[in-house]
Amino acid sequence: EEKRSLNFIEQIIEEDLKADYKKEGLKFRFPPEPNGYLHIGHASSICLNFGLGETYDAPVNLRFDDTNPIKEEREFVESIKKDVSWLGYQWAKECYASDYFQQLYDWAVVMIKNGDAYVDSQTSEAIAEQKGTPTQPGTESPYRQRSTEENLDLFEKMKNGETKEGAHVLRAKIDMENANMLMRDPIMYRCVHKPHHRTESEWKIYPMYDWAHGESDFIEQVSHSFCTLEFLPHRELYNWFVDKVSKPGEFIPKQREFARRNLSHTVVSKRKLAQLVEKGIVQSWDDPRMPTISGLRRRGYTPESIKNFAQSIGVGKRENMIDVAHLEFCAREDLNKKAPRVMGVLDPVKLVITNYAEGEEEWLEAENNPEDEAAGTRQVPFSRELYIEREDFKESANRKFFRLTLGKEVRLKNAYIIKGEDVVKDEEGNILEIHCTYDPKSKSGSGSEESLRKVKGTLHWVSIKHALKAEVRLYDRLFTEEAPDGVKDRDFLEFVNPDSLNVIAGYVEPSLKTAEELEQFQFQRIGYFCIDKDSTKDQLVFNRTVTLRDGWAK
Ligand code: ATP
Ligand code: MG
Ligand code: MG
Repeated sequence: EEKRSLNFIEQIIEEDLKADYKKEGLKFRFPPEPNGYLHIGHASSICLNFGLGETYDAPVNLRFDDTNPIKEEREFVESIKKDVSWLGYQWAKECYASDYFQQLYDWAVVMIKNGDAYVDSQTSEAIAEQKGTPTQPGTESPYRQRSTEENLDLFEKMKNGETKEGAHVLRAKIDMENANMLMRDPIMYRCVHKPHHRTESEWKIYPMYDWAHGESDFIEQVSHSFCTLEFLPHRELYNWFVDKVSKPGEFIPKQREFARRNLSHTVVSKRKLAQLVEKGIVQSWDDPRMPTISGLRRRGYTPESIKNFAQSIGVGKRENMIDVAHLEFCAREDLNKKAPRVMGVLDPVKLVITNYAEGEEEWLEAENNPEDEAAGTRQVPFSRELYIEREDFKESANRKFFRLTLGKEVRLKNAYIIKGEDVVKDEEGNILEIHCTYDPKSKSGSGSEESLRKVKGTLHWVSIKHALKAEVRLYDRLFTEEAPDGVKDRDFLEFVNPDSLNVIAGYVEPSLKTAEELEQFQFQRIGYFCIDKDSTKDQLVFNRTVTLRDGWAK
């Protein structure tokens, strides 16, 4: 078997192991902020971190980066746990940055005492103005030289909620002239008088990302902290903060960056996805049109198809756009192996077999999955009146039309060869019924000479008397633009596809009566479908996962 070459992240780890890292000391984490549902971009990060855990037999923590009570909710925590588990990964520990609030506070007090932090009482606008620009140094705050006593007193008042929101912040005292703007006295704490989903109203100050993240990695003794490229300039600050709280000889985590993955015709940002939900453009976070893990699951994607997708695009150093067609390819590839074949007609027209006895019926054997012998067979009912797809019939057609026409033969899948004889139309010329005759000796699998006769096409069908009526939800891309959030001077919401959902009524074979939520099927010649959570015994509801690219999939 060919050995896969190491990606650059694995190369970093291999180098570290060759130097002074111990294999037992490897530890990773996946650190979502619970401010929304996970999306397909997160799947890349999950597969990277948990994949490394598998490769190196190392623990991976699930760490909630829950430092902003304004946007975070318990519902999001629960959905994130569900999604990571569903992908098939087990975390070593469930951790929360909020569990470290006291430790972070204590460290901040030490920093104030050491002259490494101060309380600034300017407005956020003034602070922003003094930041300078990449080419111009910043200006020091007039509060930068506050006494330790005053700083400690004010910081405690902030903590106790005795000062107004926005009145003060705690800043690290680094260097207002640093070439890296993030090192120009970054904010460590701000006052937020809002209850937190875990610590409730215990805290009136909340740590900023840069102050909390590296310290959380340090507390958990994560060896490699992987984040997306936009955090590259934060690395210096990450190291500065960890240096302030660690003692000589202690193990220091290492931040390294990889490229964010974008998917075409959608947005991968929790904040933007939240807008789609809030504005009612989609019904929920798990709407099957959403690029969320929960949306993809409901749409019929398997965990393997998502993992294969993440693995096939790999980790990179440069941001890029992956065509959604590649994600759909991964779904097809996996479902082709797993999904049982069934027959469903989505745009029905009535077909009457005039030489088949009225009131008669028979049950025919049908193969469940040609890709999987163990999948076995099932029985499908056949009778005089069937539905076929409207587009599978033309009164007359050229030689390239491999479907039903008058005077020509086709096979009905798993059943008989039929010949088009006549049509019944309404006054406007719409076809109401197609009449045909069948060859009783041509039954599929019978081995008879007639059954082996070559015909130009094979059609799927359902028996009208036995078919179940079903609601079928057909999805298209949520956005008309390839990169809806990348169009200059335009808002991504302007590119929402008005036809992203088309609900139709179809008919499916009766074996689907007992199908359960999330069960996946291939509707032969049409595509892959799964049972939606809205489905009931009396009203089946299917989601189309993806179409079949072409004809009969082998
Ligand atoms: P969003 O803007 O959607 O909220 P985020 O990066 O702020 O994204 P987090 O909850 O902080 O979301 O992400 C958890 C982890 O997943 C981080 O390490 C982050 O870098 C990674 N991640 C998020 N989006 C992507 C993406 N599109 N591609 C790869 N990794 C991602
Ligand atoms: Mg984040
Ligand atoms: Mg975010």
